[in-house]
Amino acid sequence: FFVTVEGGEGAGKTTVLDRIEAELVSKGLDVIRTREPGGIRISEQIRTVILDVTHTEMDSRTEALLYAAARRQHLVEKVIPALKQGSIVLCDRFLDSSLAYQGYARGIGFDEVKAINEFAIEGYLPDLTLFFDVDPQIGLSRIQSDEDREVNRLDQEKMEFHERVREGYQKVIEVYPERIKVINANQDVETVYKEAMNEINHFVGR
Ligand code: C5P
Ligand code: MG
Repeated sequence: FFVTVEGGEGAGKTTVLDRIEAELVSKGLDVIRTREPGGIRISEQIRTVILDVTHTEMDSRTEALLYAAARRQHLVEKVIPALKQGSIVLCDRFLDSSLAYQGYARGIGFDEVKAINEFAIEGYLPDLTLFFDVDPQIGLSRIQSDEDREVNRLDQEKMEFHERVREGYQKVIEVYPERIKVINANQDVETVYKEAMNEINHFVGR
């Protein structure tokens, strides 16, 4: 069972995933918690290259290709083997991030980014995607008060960029309406967690 969590900055993906993971583990389920870009050695190295604050010269298509490369290695090395063993895989971001951020917000084009990702993932899609929909104003104010958060190149983007990311996710939902569940992430973490856990329980069974 492959679950991905999506959303803009400060949507609460990481915090809520911590809670979901703990809950599933406490039920005795076999859970693999991972993230994109990253999750394994090679893809964490690609992450470092993508998010390096000094890499201001990075071209958007280069960025999109690096995300797709990190995604493929993570998928074949970690996600697919875990699913084959019967684990529940909880992944912080996946394909939809690339469509919303690079395809839409950076303006490369949805179909272009979808095409390189089809090459990378060969049809492998999540069973369930939770989209944490947050107002960028609220999201950004949350990350500003989070001292543990690592600085990254995206911190240089303006509010309009984050608004476009949110619109991009709306387009993604139009393409994959059955796989994606929208959760209002402007609510407090506890409520977001409960709603997210509810969606997962539909699949995992109580
Ligand atoms: O999910 P996390 O916050 O760890 O992501 C790291 C950064 O990478 C974020 O600032 C996110 O906006 C950015 N990102 C991106 N394009 C993607 C995935 C993530 O710009 N496809
Ligand atoms: Mg996070």
